[in-house]
Amino acid sequence: MQKALRKKSRILGYIFIFYLLTFIGCATVPTGEGLATYDISGVSYLSLVSLCELDGINLDYDTFTRAAVLSREGHKISLMVGDTLVLVDGSARYLKHPPDIYRGALVVPYKFKEQILDTLFKKSYSPERAAIPLSKIRKVVIDAGHGGTDPGAIGMTGVREKDITLDISKRLSSSARSAGLEVVMTRSADRFIPLSSRVDIANRSRADLFLSIHANANRVRSLKGFEVYYISPAIDDSSRALSAARDAAPDLDNNCFAGNSLNLRATLWDMFYTASRAESIALGKAICRAIDRNLDTRILGIKAARFYVLKGVRMPAVLVEIGFLSNYDEERMLKNSYYRQKIVESIMAGIKNYDQDAAWEVGRR
Ligand SMILES: [Zn+2]
Repeated sequence: MQKALRKKSRILGYIFIFYLLTFIGCATVPTGEGLATYDISGVSYLSLVSLCELDGINLDYDTFTRAAVLSREGHKISLMVGDTLVLVDGSARYLKHPPDIYRGALVVPYKFKEQILDTLFKKSYSPERAAIPLSKIRKVVIDAGHGGTDPGAIGMTGVREKDITLDISKRLSSSARSAGLEVVMTRSADRFIPLSSRVDIANRSRADLFLSIHANANRVRSLKGFEVYYISPAIDDSSRALSAARDAAPDLDNNCFAGNSLNLRATLWDMFYTASRAESIALGKAICRAIDRNLDTRILGIKAARFYVLKGVRMPAVLVEIGFLSNYDEERMLKNSYYRQKIVESIMAGIKNYDQDAAWEVGRR
């Protein structure tokens, strides 16, 4: 009898605590914009549905995968409950705190509104922000092909691919740095770096772009020109997403990952690869256009490839073949530092154009 009474009072206690939490502890505070904020473990959250309604943003939420896609004016933001990774027009951004479910509603940290939604959608309304150009690219990885015991292609007069790619990569790095970009180089000396390490360096850097620099060689010595490779569409995105999901744990903030479910991860990577490939092609096109404008070289085009170094990289990635060392003329030109600098400036111009093609064809592609 006493036991039952104690049980009853304990239940009443729980109900009391629940009400206390609902009406006092987690009280909602209206923001100036008429949005309620929720305090979850000291972090301010907002209802994503209310945010989108207020800003006229389309919201697609899949309750099964708990993935949401926000879209407006050709821009697209993908996010997932429990994951700090957010894709903004295909580029990875990391939140300090992941989107969450609170009282059955999808909520996002206040910082998400401030740092992502406001900069992406409201730049025209805010005079202070309008002065800052919206740039998707902040950090690039520059990968000088080959190195150390691996010389790469060798020209007829002995020019080694590894030396050309290192020189171009160093020039590109300083050019990118003076343009205000953060740069990570996979190598800055004549060192052998395995492909898997290059991929690791790239993925750990959380950069917005990956550029691998190479020089071509072909048995047909007359063959010359410039070409860009991106990841082959022949590689099935879903299977790649699954394999990435399997080994992605150290790179994603997995402690924030709800349930740590393999399928959830795969869904996210799937969204990510589809967006990244479209962006890689756009970047490749922009670089080719700039090379075509600035240099008297033949553009062989943008091609799909299965290079390991591109396949494992989780960001828009291209491999640039700056010319054929097997061709006498191009080997001679690549020996010329003025010509190499012109290549670097053209690649930079391509990156800038890619970055500024802001209205972002993402929606149309
Ligand atoms: Zn190469």
